Amino acid sequence: MPDTQQTFDSRSPADGRVVATFPIMDAAAVGEAVDRARIAASWWRDLSFGERKKYLLRFKSILARRADELAELVHQENGKPTDDALLEILLSIEHIDWAARNAEKVLKQRRVRPGLLTANQDARLAYQPLGVIGIIGPWNYPVFTPMGSIAYALAAGNALVFKPSEYTPLVGQWIVDAVNEAIPQQPVAQLITGAGSTGAALCHSGVDKIAFTGSGATGRKVLKECAESLTPVALELGGKDAVLVDASANLDKAADAVTFGAYHNAGQTCAGVERVYVHEAVYHEFLEKVAEKTRALVPGTNRDSSYGPMTMPSQIDVVRRHILDAMARGGRAVVGGPESVGECVVTPVLLADVPEDSTAITEETFGPTIVVNPVRDLDEAVDRSNASSYGLSAAIFSGDRKAMGQAANRLRTGSVTMNSWVMNAGVPALPWGGNGESGFGRIHGADGLREFTRAKSTTRERFPLPIAINITNFQRHPQAAQLVRKTFALIHGRS
Ligand code: NAD
Repeated sequence: MPDTQQTFDSRSPADGRVVATFPIMDAAAVGEAVDRARIAASWWRDLSFGERKKYLLRFKSILARRADELAELVHQENGKPTDDALLEILLSIEHIDWAARNAEKVLKQRRVRPGLLTANQDARLAYQPLGVIGIIGPWNYPVFTPMGSIAYALAAGNALVFKPSEYTPLVGQWIVDAVNEAIPQQPVAQLITGAGSTGAALCHSGVDKIAFTGSGATGRKVLKECAESLTPVALELGGKDAVLVDASANLDKAADAVTFGAYHNAGQTCAGVERVYVHEAVYHEFLEKVAEKTRALVPGTNRDSSYGPMTMPSQIDVVRRHILDAMARGGRAVVGGPESVGECVVTPVLLADVPEDSTAITEETFGPTIVVNPVRDLDEAVDRSNASSYGLSAAIFSGDRKAMGQAANRLRTGSVTMNSWVMNAGVPALPWGGNGESGFGRIHGADGLREFTRAKSTTRERFPLPIAINITNFQRHPQAAQLVRKTFALIHGRS
């Protein structure tokens, strides 16, 4: 690193101590990383699916063997308890495994049926790697979130340049080192470090796609930055997820899931539970159950606290503002209140009967708070959930399978879990992504693999079409078009 290069520190959110120092990379340094990745990409692209699978399973096994070491880094930089850090690492392991084992089945070249007018063609479809993927990550799940792009982009045959959040660069470096340890031949993963300007430089660097995970405000900037060069973008943005609790729900189970979903990781989860709509018949009983579970939590800065400190100090003001707004509009604090907002740890806040136009309902809070409101029935719960400009995911708790399925169909979110919270993120075969303010594009599953490819169509003439039905040249038979039209009327004209 030249002496003149500027640096930044990543600090422990628990006590502000410096955990690591990294360079703030400028456009030139980013360009060099992209160049290195591009060379590696051409080697990686030419390997067979089987060879890439072997390397990726090696990467997976490094994570599985050294999960405790990585969990400790996550605890230091993000502040979450080590068991929560382990949880995101274990989920990541399953995703790497799935992407490695399924890339060939999903992406390999396959024959497709030609049409009637093209019956003489051998038609094929393949999904080819894009080249170099720029991955820009957040700090809240510094392993699991970027892994949805890292594992799937690599399995699809791309190299990558990864810019982790400026709050968790050490975790990012660990991941990139592990990829390169598993694949020593060529540096298919490149680390770049810095904050917004480094991310912007990556958007302008000529990479073949940007996979961005972060806030809507930054997502919009990324989209603008990429528009100039028509670099395609996948945006995994924020959420304001709702849980719908029906009168027939198992209330203990629902209260457990809501409590964990709201406060886990100090509420700093894109799919965190921020709103709960409860059937009025069970509202008070449910609220009391959640209140009891909320009061039992012991947040703090220890490795085994219920949840940890706020990772990003500036978020603390947003959380305070939302609590105050909810209460100023007539909402009540059942547990905690504005006084729960400490200097680094926010103790849990359970709000009830909050008007739907409060920022506690309309904006992403990203803190350990929940709003629990009553509704007439499941239909009203769906309508309120859908009224949000976000559309990441939602959960429904009900004893009525049919009603629950119908409600799930009506929810305008990328995913719905029934009688559980966020379990879909742990099913590698299921795509993950949102609508509206929650972004677009998909990671995970077959769609997540295809997100990092271009669909390539080919046709090869197997035999010439008989002149009587060939209408795609100037020498066509005078009656050819009519003959084909009559055949089409017979086949397609029936109602
Ligand atoms: P952020 O938008 O502040 O930053 C995200 C990343 O973008 C960081 O690496 C940052 O350095 C970089 N960046 C900043 N300015 C940039 C620019 N102009 N050009 C390019 N890159 C730039 O978000 P955050 O605070 O790190 O993460 C929290 C947000 O992420 C929340 O809104 C959360 O809901 C969302 N999130 C979404 C998902 C999902 O899957 N949908 C998952 C995790 C987090």
